[in-house]
Amino acid sequence: MLPLASARARVLAECPRLHPLALPIDEVLGCVTSVPLVAEEAVPPFDNTAVDGYAVRAADTTDAPVRLRDLGTLAAGDVAEVAVGRGEALRIMTGAPLPVGADAVVMVEDTEPAGDGHVLVRSSVGPGAAVRRAGEDVRPGDVVIEAQTELGPAHLGLLASLGYRRVPVHPRARVGVLSTGDELVDGPGPLGPGQIRDSNRRLLLALLAQTGCTPVDLGLVPDDEGAITAAVGRGVAECDAVLTSGGVSMGDFDLVKVLLDRLGRMEWMQIAIRPAKPFAFGVVAGTPVFGLPGNPVSSLVSFELLARPALRQMMGHRHLDRPRVAAVADDGLGRRPDGKTHYVRVHVAWGDDGRYHARASGAQGSHQLAAAAAANGLAVVPDGDGVPPGGLVGILLFA
Ligand code: AMP
Ligand code: MG
Repeated sequence: MLPLASARARVLAECPRLHPLALPIDEVLGCVTSVPLVAEEAVPPFDNTAVDGYAVRAADTTDAPVRLRDLGTLAAGDVAEVAVGRGEALRIMTGAPLPVGADAVVMVEDTEPAGDGHVLVRSSVGPGAAVRRAGEDVRPGDVVIEAQTELGPAHLGLLASLGYRRVPVHPRARVGVLSTGDELVDGPGPLGPGQIRDSNRRLLLALLAQTGCTPVDLGLVPDDEGAITAAVGRGVAECDAVLTSGGVSMGDFDLVKVLLDRLGRMEWMQIAIRPAKPFAFGVVAGTPVFGLPGNPVSSLVSFELLARPALRQMMGHRHLDRPRVAAVADDGLGRRPDGKTHYVRVHVAWGDDGRYHARASGAQGSHQLAAAAAANGLAVVPDGDGVPPGGLVGILLFA
């Protein structure tokens, strides 16, 4: 059996970053920048007021309370046609440009109308009070976002404030998904004898969407050479990577590995993990192909441990893995030594004692997806006798 780390290294070596593209800003949430992003404009672009109030000369307020001549009102988006002279004040709304002559703003709460076109300023302010200076957030030439940054909502807001319409990023990987198996059906009708429904295609398409990839449904094909070859051929022609499910273990009709061998450079691996021991990986016509096992939970675990990190690498991410935390295994996670690392579906919750607590989320057979649906993480249980009740275990957190 191959250690997981070796399998992973082989896969990562064949999955280089995708070539960067300048994509529209409304398509890049979750994408990774390919170069440092530099500001060409200042933010704020001009000196403006942080509050609703009166723009004044600070020196005029030293002996507050003082009466100043009210010059009228300036809204955000307008520009003052008058300058603020000595003894004068201009009513100004948050975000409006500071008028010429003024060097501070008095909050409206510290003023009151004084009749006869005047305002009473009750307290004094220093120069610069409540003024937001041009460029105090960002100056032209600043690197605002480093290369290899995963773009979140605040990044997009920042880029929008700088006038970015397109952003240089590693694009989303287009990834095809193919289910194989004569026993599988896709559709609403009743099951015939020996049939089961195809769950893996939905599962994998959803995992891809969650990973930030563009999922491409290559359909469900029977254990038939021609059908599998055609579907894989379409996948490697149209996609940046292909996932197949089923047909990679030791059964008589496990054709996927036979066919992929013929089509490209493939490797069959027995990985020292449970579930998801059988795994195939290779490059067909320049496109990485992941042969995931057919058992649904194995497919899920194989995706999490091998395909997801590789796809994240292709999309430029620096951090390839799910976040890891330590949790108390309340009921323990017992097991027998078998040379494998076990990945146990668990539900993890934050406890009042300031620690995470994990419990198995249900029956752990590799065909049993119910416990995966109830899980929010995978406990990593090393080879040996497992974790006793109250012991600590490492968790890969899904959410
Ligand atoms: P295989 O890897 O093709 O030998 O399949 C292993 C087990 O997983 C068998 O019990 C299959 O019926 C089941 N299986 C394979 N593909 C799927 C799928 N797409 N959805 C649900 N179960 C599957
Ligand atoms: Mg099969």
